[in-house]
Amino acid sequence: MLLYIHIPFCDSKCHYCAFNSYTDKFHLKHNYMKALVKQLEIELKYLDDNNEKFETVFIGGGTPSSVKFEEYEKVFELITPYLKEDCEITSEANPNSASKKWLEGMKSLGVNRVSFGVQSFDNNKLKLLGRSHNSKSAITAIQNANCIGFNGINCDIIYGVQGDRFDSLKDDFDTAFSLPITHLSAYSLTIEEGTKFFNKSEVKIDDEELSYEIFDYIKSCGFDQYEISNFAKAEKFQSKHNYGYWQHKEYLGIGAGAVGYKNNQRYYPSKSIEEYISNPLNYEVENLSNDDIKVEKVLLGFRCSTGVELSIFSQKELEKVNDLILDNRLKKDKTKVYNLNFLLADELALYIIE
Ligand code: SF4
Repeated sequence: MLLYIHIPFCDSKCHYCAFNSYTDKFHLKHNYMKALVKQLEIELKYLDDNNEKFETVFIGGGTPSSVKFEEYEKVFELITPYLKEDCEITSEANPNSASKKWLEGMKSLGVNRVSFGVQSFDNNKLKLLGRSHNSKSAITAIQNANCIGFNGINCDIIYGVQGDRFDSLKDDFDTAFSLPITHLSAYSLTIEEGTKFFNKSEVKIDDEELSYEIFDYIKSCGFDQYEISNFAKAEKFQSKHNYGYWQHKEYLGIGAGAVGYKNNQRYYPSKSIEEYISNPLNYEVENLSNDDIKVEKVLLGFRCSTGVELSIFSQKELEKVNDLILDNRLKKDKTKVYNLNFLLADELALYIIE
């Protein structure tokens, strides 16, 4: 069982961002955190009933570092009895608000991994993206996290943005790898409806060759790719939380705009902070059929190194799997099949599934 906690506050809205986050509702932070605790108290009963514990916790957003660490105390008080030994506890953070004090506070509560939304070390690119930090503050935040002693430090970098060339991205990766990070997420920009970039298609570069070049370069720097956008310095630094999603594990989703998954159902608490505060248990529920679950397992399994259980395929589908193995697109062992090119994940999955 995994736990996701959503913090929907941000200092400013990035131009590409479609996440559920607000820049003008800071006065609601305290009541929001109280509502989180209320939802969590109820949801934890599911763990009692199933005699389960959390393998991972992920505090995401929005910007978790825009909320004082003291506001998380009650959350950690509640979840601590439910944490497995060696539970990976990650918090996302933005370089401008992840002060040394905040990082120390979160570490003292139990956070052992921190993920920084750096996106670039080029101040012009950061401006184009609408980020509220600069290169220097990103470097300082990562160095502080290392001094404080987090087990894992991730740095997000975005690519496929107007003006990106391999050389400029290489500069970003070189700066990232000169810092004490253990994990790198390299995401291709996507243009989403409702963002400042929507209707500005010129800000996005679609260049598959560039993606392959980037992947090769990151790997040559000693970071292994284990998912389409994720690279780790060693297996122990892979994000167990994300891996849990890709393995289709159950997760509690706590917070406005979070998503939970249990008993073959997805549930969605309200996205509105005000509505969430007034009733954090008001969910929309989506039932997943066995076919939905199968499609998700194949799509997710092919996007990362976890692979897909052979037992979920029909005879006809297995024939297609075998064709793709002969074609060197997939490989298999006794129980699973693995994709050899994550960029082709969707294409291969849709070809195989009937
Ligand atoms: S910091 Fe993250 S969540 Fe907040 S606006 Fe930027 S991309 Fe969106």
